[in-house]
Amino acid sequence: MVNELKPQVRIIPLGGLGEIGKNMMALECGDDIIVVDCGVQFPDEDMPGIDLIIPDINYLRDRVDKVRAILITHGHEDHIGALPFILPELNVPVYAPGLAHGLISSKLKGRKATREAQAYAIEPNQDYQFGKAFTVSWFRVCHSIPDAMGLVIETPIGPIIHTGDFKIDHTPVDGRKIDLATLAHYGAKGVALLLSDSTYAEVPGYTASERVVGEALDRAIGDATGRVMVATFASLISRVQQVVDAAVRHDRHVTIVGRSMVESVQVAQELGYLTLPPGIMKSLAESRKLPPEKVVLMTTGSQGEPTSALVRIAKKEHRDVEIMKGDTVIISATPIPGNELPVSRTIDNLLRQGAKVLYDRVATVHVHGHASQEELKMVLSLVRPKYFVPVHGEYRHLMAHAQLAWDLGVAEGGIFVMEDGDVLELSEDSAQVVEQITAGPIYIDGLTTHDNTSEVLRQRRALSKDGVVVVVIPSQNGAKSTPAETPKVVSSGFINDSDTDVLFQELVEELQQILAANPEYHEEPQLCKSKVRETARDFIAKATNKRPMIIPVVLES
Ligand SMILES: [Zn+2]
Repeated sequence: MVNELKPQVRIIPLGGLGEIGKNMMALECGDDIIVVDCGVQFPDEDMPGIDLIIPDINYLRDRVDKVRAILITHGHEDHIGALPFILPELNVPVYAPGLAHGLISSKLKGRKATREAQAYAIEPNQDYQFGKAFTVSWFRVCHSIPDAMGLVIETPIGPIIHTGDFKIDHTPVDGRKIDLATLAHYGAKGVALLLSDSTYAEVPGYTASERVVGEALDRAIGDATGRVMVATFASLISRVQQVVDAAVRHDRHVTIVGRSMVESVQVAQELGYLTLPPGIMKSLAESRKLPPEKVVLMTTGSQGEPTSALVRIAKKEHRDVEIMKGDTVIISATPIPGNELPVSRTIDNLLRQGAKVLYDRVATVHVHGHASQEELKMVLSLVRPKYFVPVHGEYRHLMAHAQLAWDLGVAEGGIFVMEDGDVLELSEDSAQVVEQITAGPIYIDGLTTHDNTSEVLRQRRALSKDGVVVVVIPSQNGAKSTPAETPKVVSSGFINDSDTDVLFQELVEELQQILAANPEYHEEPQLCKSKVRETARDFIAKATNKRPMIIPVVLES
């Protein structure tokens, strides 16, 4: 009975828990909902044709009047990339740190559906009120993009701290350190719940500082005799700064190749997150006229993405750039799990063409942007939350992070390893996972979308294995006296055409016999279809040991 009056906060992860990517989390209290981040995930190789994956926002759609705002922690695609798809449905304001705000604005610009959307740049360490329940302030963290922040969310059950993506770097490229004082301040006051980045919770020790990479890049660029090509993430603005700094020291010019990187560099420069000495940047046409030892090219493609500049260059498919003998290619990134194969293929292709290739295995040309175990322990010890939910990671990362908290003896109220769709209900003195909502992936497929109950992906996978066989049963005119026309069989992606002639002839004969013996099929096309499908499937499986998709077409008169 008393329970009814006690304030409760519901934590609803809609993406990023139990997976890497499409981060999104809703917090609900009374009549108010706020949403933290709104990211995409990139499809892997078993999702043919899928462009992007975004979170399922069904839960929010049903409560759209309660949603007050989307709060962004930083400008990475897995935190902001779904905004163009989701904002038109929710139509709520977006609050983001400066650089993320710039990237979001350029992303939304020109999209009709999001023209109304309001996006605001926040200042750290200031209070923003959302509805009655939530007062939020952002605090600085270090990460692989400038202006990354965590959130302090004051709620009726006490403060909730969300770290966002972070690491503890005492010598970051932009000189802005993580705001440990804020964490300690709230830790001393008492924190109800900590939500903390788990991506590298399996990795012992400390994540190296960006400074280490700066030194390695400087050495690599200084040692190179020909052109230097540096591949990294389009959003890794601090890496762009390091490359520019090294180029200045070694009397080279920098050229950005690839649309997404050109765009993010432009936004970062306009907002003052990049310092580019006058004359240092050159267009591709200008850089072609320079001697090789004066040139640094920066490209995307560090993950082996098929359409990226580096991959096309490595495959000799790029319109404007090809590898020359004496080139040094630096892959300044670590493959995200699942991308190892395309990355090694790209490295092989570059080596075949005579480039020298430096990558994380052979030189410290990259450090990642997430905290390792000792940093995670430091945050857990400073915040000393009552409850703890590890976020941002595959299941094993979340478990490893939970184990760290367990070993430290923090979060005496409870540690909850949750996945997307699990709903945690918190009051001042209790916490419990109370239900599970649907929060599966939504696939963006051209201008359409589907979820994981759709047959489309399953069908595409089947097509990619054994192809398709189409069986056309011509009109039977409904009259038994008219001699039936011959069925026709065609295939695609199945077996060599020359091998199908005899096979399909035999199949046609078998089908003709069945149709002749079963005159009722003439009246019932559905029955006819399923009989044709079954016959063709069994016949083909027996003759070829293949299981192509069978499409029966019964032409009705
Ligand atoms: Zn990030």
